Amino acid sequence: MPELPEVENVGRALKGNLQGQELTGLQVNFAGVLGQSPRATRKALVGKTLTNVHRHGKYLVLAFGEEPDAAYLMVHLRMTGQFFILEEYVPDKHVHLVFEFPDAPPVYYRDVRKFGRLELVADAHASEELAHVGPDMMTVRFADWHQRIAHRTAPIKSLLLNQGIAAGLGNIYVDESLFLAGVHPLARPCDLDEEVLRDVLKRGKAVMRLAIDHGGTTFLNFTNFYGKPGNFKRKLRVYGRGGEPCRDCGASLEKIVIGGRSSVFCGECQGGI
Ligand SMILES: [Zn+2]
Repeated sequence: MPELPEVENVGRALKGNLQGQELTGLQVNFAGVLGQSPRATRKALVGKTLTNVHRHGKYLVLAFGEEPDAAYLMVHLRMTGQFFILEEYVPDKHVHLVFEFPDAPPVYYRDVRKFGRLELVADAHASEELAHVGPDMMTVRFADWHQRIAHRTAPIKSLLLNQGIAAGLGNIYVDESLFLAGVHPLARPCDLDEEVLRDVLKRGKAVMRLAIDHGGTTFLNFTNFYGKPGNFKRKLRVYGRGGEPCRDCGASLEKIVIGGRSSVFCGECQGGI
């Protein structure tokens, strides 16, 4: 599943390749990925220039045209949504949308499981649609985040995954951040010192920044905009390594399920719950 770093990379690639370009056509092979009819989507977007791309958590908002005629397309890739821009690409049956720009290769939206959604929204920040989503994990200030999490009694692992507290931290990066901060995934924020929580947030941002720089982490069939896999996977310290030795102390990494999500941690390095 694409997480924040992958989504950030998709957003940067869309912006880098297409900002200032006019969308001249939109081919729809499967309308189920659109939040509205193909006709309404074309009417809103075709003939307008891509002016900006915003990311909030795992959502992207593509801005077309200028106010008062601007239109905004919110994209959520969900499980298997992908954008491709490739010079030589033969679309397969999983390509549902083709965005046509006269001065760039076509941009393909491909989605094997079809859970992704592209929906027209009223503003660049999709304020209404994302009202239930907390501040973006990469930009949230510690004071704001601390106030949202410090009194909570649920396991910190579950709270870090709770997108209402802060948006964008997924399973991979939660396990990595907790390892780096030396915090057990079952620890309760209400029992943790402010300085420990400060370190958790700092590590979370750092691990995601590193993943963004490496093009994201590749799992299942996620590849980036250019059809290349991200290469952050080999940097992972604990995620996906249950039963293997901890790279810091050599102890066997433990794997448990918390709130329905697998959690890998080192019982030696992440003590004290
Ligand atoms: Zn260890």
